[in-house]
Amino acid sequence: MRASAWNTHVSGAERLLGEDHVEGVLSDLFRRALSSYRTPDEISITVDYTDPEPVSYLRSLDVKTVIPSSCEEARDIAKGILGSNGVSPAVAGKAIYLLCSGPTPEGTNMRGAILMDALTGERLESDIRRGIRVSRIDYTEDARKAITRGLKDCGIYHERVIDALAVATKVASRTETIAELCWSDNPDYTTGYIASRRGGYVRVANLKEKGSVRGGRVFFVNPEGLDLAQYIHYLERQPLIIDSIGNISKPESVIR
Ligand code: AMP
Repeated sequence: MRASAWNTHVSGAERLLGEDHVEGVLSDLFRRALSSYRTPDEISITVDYTDPEPVSYLRSLDVKTVIPSSCEEARDIAKGILGSNGVSPAVAGKAIYLLCSGPTPEGTNMRGAILMDALTGERLESDIRRGIRVSRIDYTEDARKAITRGLKDCGIYHERVIDALAVATKVASRTETIAELCWSDNPDYTTGYIASRRGGYVRVANLKEKGSVRGGRVFFVNPEGLDLAQYIHYLERQPLIIDSIGNISKPESVIR
């Protein structure tokens, strides 16, 4: 599902289901689109068939939450995590600047993610308005129940965490991916995340300024030996089901 208002992305969600479950999920996706922070003037729901053979199964990334007291501190933490994965401060700074200012030529949000060379900061996505859209991901019914319960137990439940964790788990599963940076377009939702295979899914509160409608995703990739077409094909087309859930930790305040 993709919802937009005045040609700007406001909400999106991906599911991967057996045929019998499609009808029930359509109304849920409509509800999600209509409860976006901005009323959409266009909602697209695309249903397409996926051959069940090549589905892969994964455990979701571990989830941690840190609560810095300011946006500045949150971005320092983000740069620190990106740095520990090999993304230089200059490249991390460029990614943060793009998400703050709007990464399209018009300064608006993209529909998908920026693909960034982690060494040079060069953008690698061929369409800089659409970007890369991670799709064909879902949880088994048991895994969805487990993640819902786990997030609730830690006091961090939000439907968007479930969706974003699935995206991040798929992106991190590729060895070409060094890390991912994300924050939402929703002006009231200021918690973003940095995800990586080594560090898991680290939610960072205050990563964006409250009231800002700018958001997006950046996938930092290792350019050495990168087969771009194959990498993008995997993220957009290869079906992936999360069938078990990683550790979920209670939020930690950052005291400096
Ligand atoms: P959201 O978390 O839905 O507010 O999305 C934040 C931003 O992430 C959007 O503005 C898009 O640029 C990007 N985005 C949303 N969904 C996807 C997806 N499935 N794959 C890649 N990027 C996405």
